[in-house]
Amino acid sequence: MNIKNYINGDFSLPIANGWIDNYNPSNGEVYGQIPNSSKDDVEQAYKAAKSAFSSWSQTTLEERSRILIKISELLEANLDRFAEAESKDNGKPVSLAKMVDIPRAASNFRFFGNAITQFASESHESVGQNAVNYTLRQPIGVVGCISPWNLPLYLFTWKIAPAIATGNCVVAKPSEVTPMTAYLLGEICNEAGLPKGVLNIVHGLGTTTGQAIVEHPNIKAISFTGGTATGAHIAKVAAPMFKKLSLELGGKNPNIIFADCDYENMLNTTVRSSFANQGQICLCGSRIFVEETIYEKFKADFVEKVKSLKVGHPSETDTNIGALVSKPHLEKVKSYIEIAKEEGATILCGGSEVTVEGYENGYYLQPTIIEVKTDECRVNQEEIFGPVVTIMPFKTEDDVLEMANKVKYGLSATLWTNNLKRTMRMSNELQAGIVWVNTWMMRDLRTPFGGVKASGVGREGGFEALRFFTEAKNVCIKY
Ligand code: NAD
Repeated sequence: MNIKNYINGDFSLPIANGWIDNYNPSNGEVYGQIPNSSKDDVEQAYKAAKSAFSSWSQTTLEERSRILIKISELLEANLDRFAEAESKDNGKPVSLAKMVDIPRAASNFRFFGNAITQFASESHESVGQNAVNYTLRQPIGVVGCISPWNLPLYLFTWKIAPAIATGNCVVAKPSEVTPMTAYLLGEICNEAGLPKGVLNIVHGLGTTTGQAIVEHPNIKAISFTGGTATGAHIAKVAAPMFKKLSLELGGKNPNIIFADCDYENMLNTTVRSSFANQGQICLCGSRIFVEETIYEKFKADFVEKVKSLKVGHPSETDTNIGALVSKPHLEKVKSYIEIAKEEGATILCGGSEVTVEGYENGYYLQPTIIEVKTDECRVNQEEIFGPVVTIMPFKTEDDVLEMANKVKYGLSATLWTNNLKRTMRMSNELQAGIVWVNTWMMRDLRTPFGGVKASGVGREGGFEALRFFTEAKNVCIKY
């Protein structure tokens, strides 16, 4: 199936640069093509967005809200079709796409459709000076949204929904590795009555299409989620043009387990926080630190549970772990398992590719647990972004805090304990944008989302996102 760009509400514009193959990770076969969009294609998308802006930015909040909520409803009505498409494109179990990815994409539109009706500007009375200030929150104009392959529609819409809710028009690019649901979203937007040009979706490689969006002199803000190296490059290109930037980047998140936690809940959640979506979630707790008094018990129980996870075709209902997203990614993840061996770590379970009958060329890997001797080894420091976790024991709160913070990343951290004072101390000290205590990946869309250090700059979510996609203009009136 050939995917087309969605520009000015239209899928029929010719492509200048040719096509890129799109793979199905569950069987390794090419099942379609996507446009290799050029600078000219991005320019067309920009022009469509620019001409839609004057009208969209003046559309009432109620009308914008109505359209966003309509998109949300249409996504829900098409849940099965979207979940199957997401799974085929990404390799994730259909059950996961049905439970998490597509419902969350629908929630993104519903949430920001509601949030925009509650987003108010501030006023400040300058007492004693006979003046009043009020602050306008005006849309920026045309903005760029660039997203990765791990949660394709979920993260794509997490940017687009607040961008259009605030009255901007968008040039968006999904990952070239998982373009399908972004393509289908265009149809839904037309059906929901989103005016032409408000959202434009261009497909293609990061280094050409993505780069053209970031370099475009009149695309004034970039919301990017992806790898840290790409984020650094984007910052370098965008900084001299003084673009607003939101960068949500990589992670290497600690999962810290104290002996006083609720053990069963911790164990079940840790299996999920390690291997959900084949471990390809930026929030996965890929470094597990366990208090030494329960370390041997945890190790035995965790290995047993992980060995029982079923690696299989994404469409099978009993599959826990589907295919990794691509051949190069599978090779990268496998190379870290070799590095672990060279570093003298112990592979407690997994470590090998899996052949799924009938799908021998798919990209399947066993969930892998690596026991490391030191937190300073490469597998414990570098982002692997696959079904691979490290585990090691710790003695004291100070020791584990130091190890937790001793990586370049700072996205999220999970803490398992029932000790209130320790919870408060550690939550204060952990270098992360998000700390979960006795849970993982529980999301309230009003909360700030983002990381510190090499995990990014800026926050998404709630009013943070609405602020990012608007310019504050203060008006001071003397009377
Ligand atoms: P990536 O950086 O390779 O690509 C992300 C997107 O950027 C893609 O659409 C790609 O085409 C585009 N891109 C690449 N080069 C570009 C350039 N020069 N200019 C503009 N755009 C460019 O990342 P990926 O491999 O798709 O995703 C995995 C990474 O994303 C991991 O590091 C993961 O931790 C991170 N991630 C972070 C979050 C978060 O919220 N912090 C969420 C999900 C994924």
